[in-house]
Amino acid sequence: MLKFDITHRDGLARTGIIHTPHGDIETPAFVGAATRATVKALTMKEMRELGSQAILANTYHLVLTPGPELIKEAGGLAEFCSWHGPTFTDSGGFQIFSIPDVKITEEGAKFKSHINGDKFEMTPESSMRAQWAIGADIHMAFDHLAKSENYEDMEKAMHRTHAWLERCVAEHQKLAKKSTPEQYLYAVVQGGDFNDLRAESARFCASQPVDGFGIGGVFVADGMAEMLQTVNNILPENKPRHLLGMGQEPIDLFVGAENGCDTFDCVAPTRMARNGSLYTLDGRINIKNAKFKHDFTPLMEDCDCELCQNYTKAYLHHLFRTDEITAKVLASIHNEHFVVKVVDNIRAAIKDGTFKDYKKTFLERYYSK
Ligand SMILES: [Zn+2]
Repeated sequence: MLKFDITHRDGLARTGIIHTPHGDIETPAFVGAATRATVKALTMKEMRELGSQAILANTYHLVLTPGPELIKEAGGLAEFCSWHGPTFTDSGGFQIFSIPDVKITEEGAKFKSHINGDKFEMTPESSMRAQWAIGADIHMAFDHLAKSENYEDMEKAMHRTHAWLERCVAEHQKLAKKSTPEQYLYAVVQGGDFNDLRAESARFCASQPVDGFGIGGVFVADGMAEMLQTVNNILPENKPRHLLGMGQEPIDLFVGAENGCDTFDCVAPTRMARNGSLYTLDGRINIKNAKFKHDFTPLMEDCDCELCQNYTKAYLHHLFRTDEITAKVLASIHNEHFVVKVVDNIRAAIKDGTFKDYKKTFLERYYSK
């Protein structure tokens, strides 16, 4: 079993340490989105320097190219991309169920590659085999994410997710007997915005011999706290919980940690950075805006990232206006550092009992405009 030590508690919020074969993760932690075994525009050295503790790659994308076997041949994901730290893989469910002509049966999902049109089939078993070959420390079970607000659709997808979870567990246990080092499996809780389905899914996932839990699906923004309370009051306390794909808005990180989530991942901070949309303590700004043309101050006075320590807003504005690659690099460093740091501060605040004050101060300022 994956070793997870809880060090402090404040209501449902907790701090802890996940011990993976590639190192420890102090939680709560923001995990970098390395979808294709790279965080867009950033090197792994930059990721380490900005404070990232772990990365999450995507099985769907890596199955299409370069293929799990090539990553295995390289010595596994951490070795292949030179991260040398804790790694996660998402199962690929989220991406596969976003493909317009995907065909879903009880067996699995059939789809065409968005790269070259090649036909692929992903089943719970093939997702597990791919994730074991990719070799991340922590895998997500293959789940069916329904993009629907209809109760019956959501219930059906949840039951399918549960049936697939049992198959994922069986395949995972089979593969675990043959391989070292150990790799670990998280179940994924589904159920959308329906409280009773979330509770049922949490109970089912909790009954399975898994190492932790992903909490998946799309939330109605103001319903997330209640849904997470439902789920995390049911899930066993001694296993880590990963909130999948949430973190574009800082408030989601506060609500997630406050309600018992230990790790987060989201592609939005670097995606927004590449478009010139940058976090500051006073909310997000667009650096391409003309008002920054003559602004020779740093983006954030109190940020210790490479951008804020060395460059002015006027310079970054110029890089974006002239479409220089460096614009995307510097902006991505800042945004990724910002969310990593927010979650680091949340962790420190839970430890010293000041979480509620930190949350209030941060959110009031960030959302004041
Ligand atoms: Zn910065």
